[in-house]
Amino acid sequence: VVAEKETAEVKEENEESKESNDNDNDNDTIEETKSNKELSDKYQEEAEIENYIEKVYNEDPDTFNEDISNLTDEEIAAQLKNIKEKQKNDELLNKQQQSISKISSQGDNVEGTLIDNEDRIRKDITPDNKPWSQYELERIININETNISYKRQNATLFTLCRNSELYSMLKTIHQVESRFNNKFGYDWVFLNDEPFSEEFINLTSNMISGKVRYGLIPREHWSYPDYIDEDKAKEVRESRKWASITYGTSESYRHMCRFNSMFFYKHPIMREYEYYWRIEPDVNFHCDIMEDPFKFLKNEGIKYGFTISMRELHNTIETLWETSKKYFNSLNKDYFSKEVDNLSEFISDDNGETYNLCHYWSNFEIASLSIYNNEIYEGYVNYLDKAGGFFYERWGDAPIHSIIFSLILRKDEIHLFQDISYEHTVGITCPLKDSFRQNAKCTCNPITDNWVLRSESSCNIKFIDIGGANKEPEYEEYMRKIQEEQIAKNRLREEQKQLRAETARRQAETRRKKAEERRKARLAKQTANKGV
Ligand code: GDP
Ligand code: MN
Repeated sequence: VVAEKETAEVKEENEESKESNDNDNDNDTIEETKSNKELSDKYQEEAEIENYIEKVYNEDPDTFNEDISNLTDEEIAAQLKNIKEKQKNDELLNKQQQSISKISSQGDNVEGTLIDNEDRIRKDITPDNKPWSQYELERIININETNISYKRQNATLFTLCRNSELYSMLKTIHQVESRFNNKFGYDWVFLNDEPFSEEFINLTSNMISGKVRYGLIPREHWSYPDYIDEDKAKEVRESRKWASITYGTSESYRHMCRFNSMFFYKHPIMREYEYYWRIEPDVNFHCDIMEDPFKFLKNEGIKYGFTISMRELHNTIETLWETSKKYFNSLNKDYFSKEVDNLSEFISDDNGETYNLCHYWSNFEIASLSIYNNEIYEGYVNYLDKAGGFFYERWGDAPIHSIIFSLILRKDEIHLFQDISYEHTVGITCPLKDSFRQNAKCTCNPITDNWVLRSESSCNIKFIDIGGANKEPEYEEYMRKIQEEQIAKNRLREEQKQLRAETARRQAETRRKKAEERRKARLAKQTANKGV
């Protein structure tokens, strides 16, 4: 109580000194005020510490894990600050968690934070499958907008990311908006295992033309199920083997992969939509998106779309194929039979004996949510989860999506988007049709910026070869150019190698000659000396 009172008094003093600071420009006074302020800050800090120590001893002796009599004031203050931040975070977390459980039990469709972006939403666009909201109706009536020219699908852009990725995310958003979404005004859903910061919400929603919604992932979707041995999982992560494997030692990466396999489509916000487009921070789009891919999926009956495919690191999924096979065998259907119309050839070169590691790269996905919300899919991921490979190995969501969809979807239900120029880390694609690149204001080079057609690790050529996608008219010509370029590159490399070898040979020759000269000179000297 005393401490509180002191704090209040110090506050008053503080206000007073501020006032005098405003009214008086005299230097001495400013100096005095400054030291006053420092002093009062110090008092306030001390008062808080006192207060805190009292609280710790009286109410909650477990808060500190060490004896605070050993700590300096600064250390106590630092701990105090941490604890306060944690409390603030916990409150926010609790609030968002509560809203989630409320929503899931009611089957309601509003939760998380919704930023409506009212003034920026395109007025001439309406969702196909969603009725106008009262607000939208009123606005249309008010502005007398009668010629609605475009119908959106019931679809959303979707991003799972961390607050720390804000600035990479903004760069991605800017491209998606200017190359696509400002024409359509689709919603954008952000999910996170921690509450999004105000800064994240403000800066991202400021750039997005549709409604933006920020949701928290429920704890059960980002934690260990009871059939997983956490100690064993920890041992795996700490073992020497995993140290050298990409993300091998990471715990959060495993939760992320499991979430993208088992839970993203179950989040109450995501349940409202029919289609999603997954977008990550740090990705680039090098051409305008010329048609609405959601509408394309709808019209063509496509369920899953991708741009890049590649081979997975085998050591991250050592038992995934065996486990998957057990599940698919239990369904009593031979997914590798010639009679079945699917893309089983994309994932296996020997009729299902082994997995060839090809997978659709899931950081880009445009797909229907219905392919997740069904018994076969859920049966599969639950089976995988019980087998433990999300934690005891490092199973990625990409091979999991790829294996099941290549088996259970029809060939024509999986689509390679060849008109979307997409780039993430090592992978990049660029459309081959010259006139398209011009219309779509592409900034990519079709020869050099086509990792999918150049790299041994890419599976796009395989996908095209087995009839998964049309060959663009320019395909053969570009493949020839790419190969010629590759040959020219190899030739240049060979020439450089020879040049280096030649230089080295010459240098060695020069050294040899010099050594020879020195030897001769030495001999001559010796002979001369003997002569004397
Ligand atoms: P990579 O593409 O396989 O290299 O993996 P990333 O590090 O890019 O992660 C994939 C996606 O999951 C990205 O959108 C990340 O922002 C997101 N992500 C990864 N780890 C976490 C995490 O711990 N929390 C949250 N909220 N998002 C994550
Ligand atoms: Mn990524």
